[in-house]
Amino acid sequence: MDQGLRQDLANWLEFYRELGIEEFYRSTPGSAAPLPTTREGTPVSPDGRQPLLQAASKPGPEEAKPLISAAPPVQPLRAGASQTVIGAPPIRPPVPTLSLFEAPPTKPGGPETLQQIRVDLGDCHRCKLAAGRHNIVFGEGNPHAELVFVGEGPGADEDEQGLPFVGRAGQLLNRMIQGMGMKREEVYICNVVKCRPPGNRVPEKDEIDACSPFLFRQLEAIQPRLICCLGAPAVKTVLGIKDGITKIHGQFYDFGNAKALATVHPAYVLRNPREEKILREDFEKIREFLKGK
Ligand code: URA
Repeated sequence: MDQGLRQDLANWLEFYRELGIEEFYRSTPGSAAPLPTTREGTPVSPDGRQPLLQAASKPGPEEAKPLISAAPPVQPLRAGASQTVIGAPPIRPPVPTLSLFEAPPTKPGGPETLQQIRVDLGDCHRCKLAAGRHNIVFGEGNPHAELVFVGEGPGADEDEQGLPFVGRAGQLLNRMIQGMGMKREEVYICNVVKCRPPGNRVPEKDEIDACSPFLFRQLEAIQPRLICCLGAPAVKTVLGIKDGITKIHGQFYDFGNAKALATVHPAYVLRNPREEKILREDFEKIREFLKGK
């Protein structure tokens, strides 16, 4: 085994060890373990941001096909007659595969972990945004957060760093989180799409359709009490509501066992500083909600 591959394998095993997984099985008894690649091509690094073995496994046309047939896209359900009752989509974990490097072993029927979802996402080429991205921005934060923020999609800074909300909008979001007496590390932050749309345009339907099943699986894995949708694309994707954000912001909607609330996107507030009041008021509602058990 060459030195680079040996190092990658060591990193990968360390990643699993940190997850508490120390025993591995070959998928075919007696055969050599497969190269550490996802179904799509390239495995990801332990921090979930970079593919490993990039040179060894560039996805070919065969591998670039959509790969989520085991987990069909979940359609957000619309508001029912009461307007505030929205059923959360039942999010089914994918059929587990036994490949060493694709999915960490889990309790049969047990909930998916964020790590498993990240591994399944792989070096994603399910939509055209992959072509222009530098890094997949999977999401960041407490895997058991009570509060999840869903933004629109990575911007230039996020694409550069592979982390959500690290630019100017992220700094405003951080201030708002701190204003509630919370730390950024306590919450979970992700986006409707995980790759930067060119020129920061709004993500298109086919991109959202390809990416949002992973968002729903993340929400299912985290089981938050409250989902805060930042801006119209998040509201439309999570709640299926097309109404203007200024009309519906600050209201609580049902999302399965959780609640969801819409507010204006911090980037919108940066462009329209007078609207910071809306964000403040809505964050106060979030704080009040989380205080009540
Ligand atoms: N805007 C978003 O919607 N998401 C980010 O991660 C950053 C800016």
